[in-house]
Amino acid sequence: MLHALPSPSKTRLAIRLQPRAERAVKRGHPWVFDHGISSQRQEGRPGDLAVIFDRDNRFLAIGLYDPRSPIRVRVLHHGSPMTIDAEWFAARVRQAHERRANLLGTDTSGFRLIHGENDRMPGLIVDRYGDNLVVKLYSAAWVPHLRSVLEGLIDLISPERIILRLSRAVQKQAGELSGLFDGQLLHGPVLTGPVLFRENGLVFEADLLKGQKTGFFLDQRENRARVGSRSAGRTVLNVFSYTGGFSLYAARGRASAVTSLDLSGPALAAAERNFELNRHIASVAGAAHHLLRGDAFDLLRELGRDRQRFDVVILDPPSFAKSQGEIEGAIRSYQKLTRLGVDVLASGGLLVAASCSSRVSEDAFVDAVIGAAQKAGRPLRVIEQTGHALDHPILIPEAAYLKCIFAEVE
Ligand code: SAH
Repeated sequence: MLHALPSPSKTRLAIRLQPRAERAVKRGHPWVFDHGISSQRQEGRPGDLAVIFDRDNRFLAIGLYDPRSPIRVRVLHHGSPMTIDAEWFAARVRQAHERRANLLGTDTSGFRLIHGENDRMPGLIVDRYGDNLVVKLYSAAWVPHLRSVLEGLIDLISPERIILRLSRAVQKQAGELSGLFDGQLLHGPVLTGPVLFRENGLVFEADLLKGQKTGFFLDQRENRARVGSRSAGRTVLNVFSYTGGFSLYAARGRASAVTSLDLSGPALAAAERNFELNRHIASVAGAAHHLLRGDAFDLLRELGRDRQRFDVVILDPPSFAKSQGEIEGAIRSYQKLTRLGVDVLASGGLLVAASCSSRVSEDAFVDAVIGAAQKAGRPLRVIEQTGHALDHPILIPEAAYLKCIFAEVE
C-alpha cells in the first residue's frame, strides 16, 4: 500500500510576506494566510514546499503550500534553512512520541500522538487506539508527504493497522487526493467493526472508520476523570453523551444512576455496549444506566417541566461556532443550555459545562455560563476551570479550544 502513495514534488516556491504576516512568522506562528503573501512568482500545488524569505532575502521558514485553503502555508520549520524529507518527518514523529512518554495516566491506550500545529505538524492529527492508528488530514497538502509520515510511524511503533480520515474540507478536494478517501485502510488487516482501547482502566469501543473526530473525544479524558471522582452516591445526567465517556466514569465513581442523553441512536447504542464492556467493575454493574434520545434543548425543557432533578449535570455540546459570524449565536446557545441545565440541577448539585468552540474565548464562555445561571436564580460557585488533556499540548492560542467549568449551585 505505502509504495502506491504519491511522492513529494521537487518544486520549491519562494514567498515573501506582508509586514504583519512576516512578524507573525518570525514569532513562530505556523499559519500564513492568503492575504499575508506579498510576492510569489508561480502558483503551487497542494503539498509543494514553500520557502518564506524576509525583505532582505533571508530564510525565515519553510512549510506546506495549499492553494485551496485560506491558510496558504502551514509552517513546518522556522529559523535556519532545513531539508524537509522523509527523515525529517520521521524525526518529528519521534519527538511527538517522546513528548507523551510520561504524560499519560496508567492503563490508557487511547491518546493523541500528534496534535497538528502544536507538535509542529500543522494540519495533521494522529490518534492512537491500542495497536491502531488514525491519521487525519485537515489539508490536502499532507497527501504527498503521507508516505513519509506513515513510514516514521511504522518504524517507531509498529502499529497493527493505520486508518486514514479526512476533514470535511479535504474530502471535497477529490482532485488533490490521488484516490485517497475517508475511512481508507492504509496499513494492516481489514477493519470490520469498532476497536477496543483503554482509558484510565475503562474499556471503550471506538468506530475509527466513521466515528466523530477520529472515533472518540480523547481531549476530554481528564475532565471525565474529574467527573468520576465527584460522582459517588449521586445521580448524573450526561447531556451530549456521545458513546458514554463521562457516563462510564460517573458509574465507576459509584454514581447511583446515570442518564446518557444524545441525539444519535448509534452513539447511545455504543454507550450501552461500553457499559457492558465494563460490567466486571462492580460499581459499573451496580449503577443504573438510562438512555434518552432526542434534542438536548427539548429534552432538558421536558425534564425541567417534569421536575426531575440530578446531582450532577454535564453539558458537552458540539462546537456552536464554526466561523467568526457564529460567535454571538454560540454565546446565546451556551446561555440557553446553562439555563436549562441548572433547572434540572438539585440543590448543592454540580454543573460541568464544556465548550469546544475555538472561536469562543474562555472569558466569554465563563461569563455566559455564570451570567445565565445567575439570571435563572441559581448562582454558581466555580470550583475548577480546566482545558484538554495533556496529550493535546498548546503551542498557539488558537489551539486552546476546549474550556470546561466545574461549578456548584447553592
Ligand atoms: N461528551 C462526549 C462528546 C460529545 S460530542 C464525550 O465525552 O465523548 C457531541 C455530541 O452531541 C454528539 O454525540 C452528537 O450526536 C450530540 N448532539 C449534537 N447535537 C445535539 C442535540 N441538539 N441534542 C442532543 N445531542 C446532540
